Amino acid sequence: MRQIDHFINGGAGSPGSRFADIMDPNNGGVQARVVLGDRNVLDAAVAAAQAAQPAWAAMNPQRRARVMFDFKALIEKHMDELAHMLSAEHGKVIADSKGDIQRGLEVVEFCCGLPHVMKGEYTQGAGPGIDVWSMRQPLGIGAGITPFNFPAMIPLWMGAVATSVGNAFILKPSERDPSVPNRLAELFLEAGMPAGIFQVVHGDKEMVDAILDHPAISAVSFVGSSDIAHYVYNRGVAAGKRIQAMGGAKNHGIVMPDADLDQVVNDLTGAAFGSAGERCMALPVVVPVGDDTAERLKAKLIPAIAALRVGISTDADAHYGPVVTAQHKAKVEGWIQTAIDEGSELVVDGRGFKLQGHEEGYFIGPTLLDHVTTDMESYKEEIFGPVLQMVRAANFEEALALPSKHQYGNGVAIFTRNGHAAREFAARVNVGMVGINVPIPVPVAYHSFGGWKRSGFGDTDQYGMEGIKFWTKVKKITARWPDGSPDGTNAFIIPTMG
Ligand code: NAD
Repeated sequence: MRQIDHFINGGAGSPGSRFADIMDPNNGGVQARVVLGDRNVLDAAVAAAQAAQPAWAAMNPQRRARVMFDFKALIEKHMDELAHMLSAEHGKVIADSKGDIQRGLEVVEFCCGLPHVMKGEYTQGAGPGIDVWSMRQPLGIGAGITPFNFPAMIPLWMGAVATSVGNAFILKPSERDPSVPNRLAELFLEAGMPAGIFQVVHGDKEMVDAILDHPAISAVSFVGSSDIAHYVYNRGVAAGKRIQAMGGAKNHGIVMPDADLDQVVNDLTGAAFGSAGERCMALPVVVPVGDDTAERLKAKLIPAIAALRVGISTDADAHYGPVVTAQHKAKVEGWIQTAIDEGSELVVDGRGFKLQGHEEGYFIGPTLLDHVTTDMESYKEEIFGPVLQMVRAANFEEALALPSKHQYGNGVAIFTRNGHAAREFAARVNVGMVGINVPIPVPVAYHSFGGWKRSGFGDTDQYGMEGIKFWTKVKKITARWPDGSPDGTNAFIIPTMG
């Protein structure tokens, strides 16, 4: 059986004794296995990182940027191969895998400009003969722990920024789709990055804990579900590390009465059901404002949902593929039952969906639930499947309150033709990323990504200048070059600049 090993110091890492199965979402069953590492494996990666990082950090920034340019070209060259590898383990359709890789690639592009963003600040003449300046320095060794749903994009959010600024980076990807991260490590090496700078260790909680406790690792970036994000944040901070930990989501799409409903339905079907709903920026909750809007929207949504094609991940005509594992399929279908038991109206039922020729695959049909209310557990929690819940709001204020009061605060969207309503909404909603007539408002690579409330622990976002901030520390230098004459200052009091 195919086995995925660690990628340590430029090559396949030490063999292990524990393994996890990698499932085949299209057909069911096991397609490969991944080794699960422990503290010893991590120690080997840390030793390689310690050996390589000082020279990498000392390299002039243009040379590190050149590695990023070459890495970007290699990803583009291998786009098809990477997308097929990704789809085979994750289950998302090829076009969506390419989107996953592309959004990561855009962060690599941002990192090609790192000499510019690494520049410090300078004040000449802060006092007599005194200049003050700052420089950004890498932290040393950082680690990233990533979820299954974006196995290319999220490792690149972290790994490209962390390494381009001069750190060594150790990635612990999801054990459910680990092949693409290993391939990225090979491509980094081919692009000229020294061995030991971008490494991959595989594992489960044991490896995560080893990372959080390792004294040589200065910072950890985590993306995954909220309970684990919170755990990672607490344990990492207790160990004295810099931590950012992004969690789950339950994003709302507010539909104002004046919205272009055909456009909304088009956007919603993509944002709610695309990638089988396994996106932290999916729109699993739609909030029509007013019953009339709700009825008009529902009438258009039902045929649009019926027209969706569910297929295997290599089916070029499929809108979305299977979910990642049999357990996840059971969990999502369990949530649909809970929603019904709680009193939601089941408008379209996607349970029990079987794809001909792939009956053992982990497919779920698109599901629509109406009359969902805020006291329902199925509303409060993340379902992470192709399930759209409709929560009706009487007016703008009620609609604004829904995402604002929800425990998650990752993304939100408003659909309207009214600029004032959109502006008010963007200013007042208690959520980290807002779309105005944009269903999945993932900011571009030179801005930054991060949710609020239980969607994000820690105070810096991913990528953009926030990413640079997270992966560097700022040194402040105050320099005095006196002209040689006595300056009369009292050496025993705190110096002032005069
Ligand atoms: P997950 O929390 O199960 O796993 C994330 C990582 O944590 C994996 O590397 C996994 O090996 C590790 N892990 C799992 N159990 C652990 C434990 N008990 N202790 C320590 N580490 C553990 O998440 P997932 O199912 O892989 O990904 C889906 C989740 O990620 C969803 O909740 C989704 O919303 C979230 N997500 C959030 C963002 C964001 O930016 N906010 C982006 C993508 C995904």
